[in-house]
Amino acid sequence: MTPDVRDETLRPSAGPSQGAAGGGAARPASQDRDPERAGVSAQAGGGPAGGAAKAIPEPAWDRALDLIRGADEVALACHISPDGDALGSMLAAAKALKAMGKRVVASFGDRRFAVPRLLRFLPAQDLLTVPSAFPSEPEVMITFDSSTLDRLGLLAVNAAKAREVIVIDHHASNDGFGTVSLIDPGVAATAVLTEELIRRLGVPLDRDMATLLYVGLVTDTGSFRHSSTTPAAHEMAARLVAAGLRTDEIARELWDRSPFGYLKVLGAALERVVLEDDLVWTYVTHTDRAAYGLPYDEVEGIIDVIRRTDEADVAVVLKQDDDGVWQVSTRSKGGADVGAICTALGGGGHAYAAGFTSHDSVEVTMDRFRELLRKR
Ligand code: 5GP
Ligand code: MN
Repeated sequence: MTPDVRDETLRPSAGPSQGAAGGGAARPASQDRDPERAGVSAQAGGGPAGGAAKAIPEPAWDRALDLIRGADEVALACHISPDGDALGSMLAAAKALKAMGKRVVASFGDRRFAVPRLLRFLPAQDLLTVPSAFPSEPEVMITFDSSTLDRLGLLAVNAAKAREVIVIDHHASNDGFGTVSLIDPGVAATAVLTEELIRRLGVPLDRDMATLLYVGLVTDTGSFRHSSTTPAAHEMAARLVAAGLRTDEIARELWDRSPFGYLKVLGAALERVVLEDDLVWTYVTHTDRAAYGLPYDEVEGIIDVIRRTDEADVAVVLKQDDDGVWQVSTRSKGGADVGAICTALGGGGHAYAAGFTSHDSVEVTMDRFRELLRKR
């Protein structure tokens, strides 16, 4: 599907929010990330962690390890419409916990539960369960790449009722909804923190886990192109590739293939693309996709074509889902904090890669977005 790179273009700025063990106290939300921190903390030739995850206090790690070791069953969830980082991190952890002899439940809370076509090559999908089979009051739950309870979709109620919720995430906008926060906005991907967790649990990485973590790392860094690409990210890649990964095959699955209908739908989106000053935008309707039987998740990469426009700082793609609701993807090259705009519109994300949901028309949605963009 995606002819180019997906997700999460980030820039350094404000300091990371502190993860904290216990209590789930609210921490200040910020749209900014600080990838350079991780760069500074990375140690050449350092331990397996490569200097990652310095923002997370040791007591938080200790508490997470105690909870996991003490549990017979661990329930894992990642954000809805999972991307490579969310699903890759969760499945890698699921395999590691299985290897420890734990009962593992892993799911995500989409109403139409299906692994996006793009990610169907991932190993360990046999460990996935439908959200309806998820424990309603988990003893120990772990969430991956989800910045708020809402992003868990149907599984938000399960998390709200869980005795303990360990939150593993790298979004600075994470609101600290768990009881244990393993949150570091300075790392390139949730997969970085997941690798660290698996290492601390003492489980050796097998090839499947390495593949899953690598997919999280390459998707969130846009193949090591985004500013989130730290020395620690490259060091982690080196460790994973050494496990014998076919990085060429992974890259082809992620970026160099799509059904024919994708080309036609991309054509429709390009046909109606608009450039307004430094804003470039377009939309993809449900009808565009239906003509070619193209599922919603196939159009997520269109933003990566649109955002290449030299004349524009900000790129927006509105994607209509099967219920007629618009999911809006936004990107900035650095002139605008689209994370702040999307948060104001009820969504979230990073300063330079963010999104929101709109139940209004394309025109009304763009009017609201434009108004906030021009106000800055
Ligand atoms: P994408 O445009 O690739 O779907 O998302 C870009 C970034 O914004 C990702 O970090 C994603 O998690 C975040 N994001 C997208 N839509 C939403 C939303 O509706 N709410 C929140 N909180 N974050 C979103
Ligand atoms: Mn991520």
